[in-house]
Amino acid sequence: MVGPVIYTFGNEEQKSRHLPGILSSDIWWCQGYSEPNAGSDLASLKTLAVRDGDHYVVNGTKMWTTEAHWADWMHCLVRTDRDARPQAGISFLLIDMTSPGIEVRPIVTIDGQHHTNQVFFDDVRVPVANLVGLEGQGWEIAKFLLANERVAIADTGPKLKLLADIKAMFATRVERDGQSRTMAVIQDRLADAEVQLASLCALEAAYVRDWAEGADRNGPQASILKLRGTEILQLLSEIALEIEGPVGAVHDPAALRGLKTDSEWPSSIAHHYLYGRCWSIFGGTSEIQRTIIARSLLA
Ligand SMILES: Cc1cc2nc3c(=O)[nH]c(=O)nc-3n(C[C@H](O)[C@H](O)[C@H](O)COP(=O)(O)OP(=O)(O)OC[C@H]3O[C@@H](n4cnc5c(N)ncnc54)[C@H](O)[C@@H]3O)c2cc1C
Repeated sequence: MVGPVIYTFGNEEQKSRHLPGILSSDIWWCQGYSEPNAGSDLASLKTLAVRDGDHYVVNGTKMWTTEAHWADWMHCLVRTDRDARPQAGISFLLIDMTSPGIEVRPIVTIDGQHHTNQVFFDDVRVPVANLVGLEGQGWEIAKFLLANERVAIADTGPKLKLLADIKAMFATRVERDGQSRTMAVIQDRLADAEVQLASLCALEAAYVRDWAEGADRNGPQASILKLRGTEILQLLSEIALEIEGPVGAVHDPAALRGLKTDSEWPSSIAHHYLYGRCWSIFGGTSEIQRTIIARSLLA
């Protein structure tokens, strides 16, 4: 998410400092956008950065910050001007997560895992050199990043793998218990999901090709990919749960961590089903994506 931001809006020093670690995945980043009262209405964010010589002093809190407990850096939206109109007073800062004054508190989600956190900033000093673009340009950069994030959420590669796993699971179940009317219905749903996924892959290929050729990325395409990708993921996880039947309710954290497990399926279905709920929330909820699509295509 932040790589394209740095090579598009960053200065030479930021590019040479940060891009190699992003490319090699040696340096991990988290995204500091949402706050307790700023999610869909992101422009109302309140985390304040006040200039003090060659530093900003940052105070406030970020909510739902995925992997903040692992991250080396955060790319963060801060308010640098309280008097400007909400969007115009936002800036994009890179914050070293080892800076004094940062506290990361875990939030355990419905799947029983620790993915996400609340992050608190108490007089955190951030060098002005870590400002990306201009002061007040944060909203433009935030929207650029969100388009990339939403395309990534379409996530077709892992979905193709998930579909193959579910088909294998279906075959094992039929071999064990025999074909039944219920399984025939599930087979139909699986075929339908496969067609939907194939059309998502085709759509993704077409949009990515257009963008590579210079098409405008600010249209509804990223929202369409995010929305459809999420719906198909949730459909697949529901089908998997149906195939597994009551056994699917057994949550297997060992499988999730890649440890040896007796589970018939190499990952936890309950996890996919439960964590799958989050995908229609993060990166902008499905309602917000539908509004973007409606505004650009139907207005
Ligand atoms: C697991 C998880 C991980 C996350 N990771 C990150 C992260 O790493 N970094 C980060 O910055 N954020 C992260 N988020 C936050 C996520 O982006 C927000 O939760 C999301 O944008 C919704 O904001 P909200 O939670 O404040 O809900 P709200 O904005 O309060 O929305 C509540 C409900 O109202 C609906 N709604 C709100 N406004 C409208 C409207 N105008 N029209 C129609 N319906 C509307 C929404 O669709 C939703 O159903 C994560 C969230 C989750 C659940």
